[in-house]
Amino acid sequence: MSRFFSDKYQSLVPYVPGEQPRDRKYIKLNANESPFPPSPLAQSEAMKALSGLQLYSDARNTALHRELASFYGLSEDQVLATNGSDEILDLCMMAFCDEKHPALFPDITYGFYKVAAEVYGVPYEEIPLDEDFRIRPGDYFSSGKTVFLANPNAPSGIILPLSDVETVVARNPDTVVVVDEAYVDFGGESALSLIPRYDNLLVTRTFSKSRSMAGARLGFGAGNAGLIRDLSAVKFSSNPYNVNLMTAAAGIGALRDEAYTQKNLKTIVENRAWLSRELSKLGFSLTDSKTNFVFARHPAIGGGALTLALRERGILIRHFSSPRIEDYVRITVGTREELSALLAAIKDILEGSK
Ligand code: PMP
Repeated sequence: MSRFFSDKYQSLVPYVPGEQPRDRKYIKLNANESPFPPSPLAQSEAMKALSGLQLYSDARNTALHRELASFYGLSEDQVLATNGSDEILDLCMMAFCDEKHPALFPDITYGFYKVAAEVYGVPYEEIPLDEDFRIRPGDYFSSGKTVFLANPNAPSGIILPLSDVETVVARNPDTVVVVDEAYVDFGGESALSLIPRYDNLLVTRTFSKSRSMAGARLGFGAGNAGLIRDLSAVKFSSNPYNVNLMTAAAGIGALRDEAYTQKNLKTIVENRAWLSRELSKLGFSLTDSKTNFVFARHPAIGGGALTLALRERGILIRHFSSPRIEDYVRITVGTREELSALLAAIKDILEGSK
């Protein structure tokens, strides 16, 4: 660090994204990206937007908000488009958390919540998941805090039923409950339907996973119009032109090509079931993932060792070193070909470690 770095960041431990190595070609199963390209319509809309790049993007994101609202059955003042869903999570931390409203989230969840809390100096509390990595809804009742729940959770992949999500929202009437649905399209039931009934519910979504647009950076928040106004005020004060022209156009194209998304979702869900079965046959135990990744451990090899051995064979998966999950690996569900190569490499590694 330089001598100019603010004292307030001296103990900051930045979020570590899944690596994007350029040194050789890997089978990339480490960042929960889609193995499929974006919809052809998303691509052609983005191309069309290129010739208008001399102008700023629409800071109000009017066309995109209209499309999002109509696609999800909401009104335009109930959505806010952002630069990836990380940005809407960031805005929630800025808008709804402070000394009086600390953040609250599970001990095993998306690591960005903790990092965002730290960067904004927000006090936070982590609640341990149960021994099966499940959220106990009762732990979040009457919390007096701004609750962040990833549903399905990451990296466990486990879903909290919508009725439990609703109870957590209902039992925190005076604080905001942020439900991060980055992976909900792969098998979860969305809390978007609860928005008309709860003024303290903010749902976040992303185009990075089910819509194959991780590199475009598009997400959004949905909630009561009052919450959206708050978030919008913070957005206009930090990054007014947050969604670039190409990305906004691609997002509209992707929403108008739902058949393409549904086809890919079906493939990923089938591949997830197949991969889970094959890993079980090899002796892995797995959580019940409703996402585009599996979370698994093997009795004969630790998560770190397996990740390293696969890397040497040109396959990237993700390992987290926090003590409760260090035996596990998180593997993105790719194509059948990618997963066949993964399984062959794992067999080879397990043979070698006997
Ligand atoms: N939430 C969860 C649970 C995630 O795993 C991710 C992806 N790392 C995000 C949000 C953020 O995704 P993005 O910024 O690409 O929308």
